[in-house]
Amino acid sequence: MTLIRRQLLARAALAAGAALLPGAWTPALAQARLPEDPFALGVASGEPEPDGVVLWTRLAPRPLQPDGGMAPAPVEVRWTVAEDEQLRRVVRSGSALAVAEGGHAVHVEVAGLRPDRPYWYRFTAGGHASPTGRTRTAPARGADVRRLRLAYGSCQKYEAGFWGAYDHLVADDPDLVLFLGDYIYEQAATNKGVRRHPGPEPTDLSGYRIRYGAYKSDPKLKAAHAAAPWMVIWDDHEVENDYGGDQDRANSDPALFLRRRAAAYQAYFEHMPLRRRSIPVGPQMLLHRSLDWGRLAQFQFLDTRQNRPHRTCDVLSDEKLIPDCPERTDPSRSLLGAAQERWLLDTLGGSKARWNLLAQQYAMGEIQRPTPEGLRYSNDGWGGYAQTRRRILERWRDAEVPNPVVLGGDIHCFIAADLGLEEGRPIASEFVGGSISSLGATNADLQALMQANPRLTFTEGERRGYGRVEITPGGCDVTFRAIDSALVPESPVRDIVRFHVEAGRPGLQRA
Ligand code: FE
Ligand code: CA
Repeated sequence: MTLIRRQLLARAALAAGAALLPGAWTPALAQARLPEDPFALGVASGEPEPDGVVLWTRLAPRPLQPDGGMAPAPVEVRWTVAEDEQLRRVVRSGSALAVAEGGHAVHVEVAGLRPDRPYWYRFTAGGHASPTGRTRTAPARGADVRRLRLAYGSCQKYEAGFWGAYDHLVADDPDLVLFLGDYIYEQAATNKGVRRHPGPEPTDLSGYRIRYGAYKSDPKLKAAHAAAPWMVIWDDHEVENDYGGDQDRANSDPALFLRRRAAAYQAYFEHMPLRRRSIPVGPQMLLHRSLDWGRLAQFQFLDTRQNRPHRTCDVLSDEKLIPDCPERTDPSRSLLGAAQERWLLDTLGGSKARWNLLAQQYAMGEIQRPTPEGLRYSNDGWGGYAQTRRRILERWRDAEVPNPVVLGGDIHCFIAADLGLEEGRPIASEFVGGSISSLGATNADLQALMQANPRLTFTEGERRGYGRVEITPGGCDVTFRAIDSALVPESPVRDIVRFHVEAGRPGLQRA
């Protein structure tokens, strides 16, 4: 093997998140014909910058097999980026090695593109061509951008429903798609849903790969990835329900749990259009980051799972709702962990963007839950870490961060509310975008919740869908879009409510 080939292979292995090198490898073997179409999981793009994006695919002709149906040898994957859908005006091309240690996934960081325009891309490998994907670059730094249209979703439990919401998300033609967590659900297959994912609950890399293989085989999800660049963050189910740090609900041995978390993070990286900076190192993976859209908007993406301290006021390990307790407001405990929280507060303080969108996993504001035993709080999200929320709100206020807006997921309901430190003085507004298919609360229960929490101005728990956001220098418009039914593959969509936030005037208005 020549030195250059050795370096190429080492780079490919590194880019795949793999720590070791395969033994025998030759270019001829890497370019050999593949007997089956390896692009069953489609293509994706993400992490747009003014000069480039990440292009993703994973070679897996049989996605429900642990190795995706691939032999262990590395495979050369060629990629092409063009200015037109027919791929005639090619502007960039190259190749990457897909290696078994990285699940035969490739993450190509394309650079040298022009800002704020669409591009089309395609992969070829082993005599097969992938579908053509469409992506776009971010506007130039400081550019005077007049409009950004995005869609955001979360919580797509495969067994709970079909993903008809994506048909409409694609038709909306967003510049950007945000996915805010629960991309897969890890539980074992059941007979209770409208369709069945394969296999037992995953605990190792093979298991998680199979689960992603099932989810990412869905044609509607593939179409949504091929339509626009995505920015993704995880919640709990990408690893295990309600985990935090090195602790799962069952309080398993932390060393064993971290081994599981490492496998889950590796599988997550292998299936998402993420940059090399997110390559996992054992059970650690960098996921918090910001994204600029010219001078119009900055996004701060949070990871609220990886670095949190142990569960707050944990009386019983299976009890998520806790009474108020000193730990909840202990300033030394951060939902984000010290390093990420410092990064966030610094980033917010330095933002010159007209709009600052916090993309995170939950409903961020305080939600009190009345029970016969008194008020309860969820210790799974911000409710267990009230001081972290307070410090962010104070930062928005004290640094005069322009126009903060929070987007969230997790609770399988649409929620709109203002956020503030004092009653009636909003600092930001939050919009929780429903769920793509996971089942939520009944509206009767949500009505009771609204009575206990007058801060909540809108809730809807019985319908599935996503949020659509249009941002201009003057305002931010959020529309909650719900399909009639996720129990059938295709379903019409309706706008269920619209909100407007005016620049310079905190607080949401119902449009
Ligand atoms: Fe969920
Ligand atoms: Ca969740």
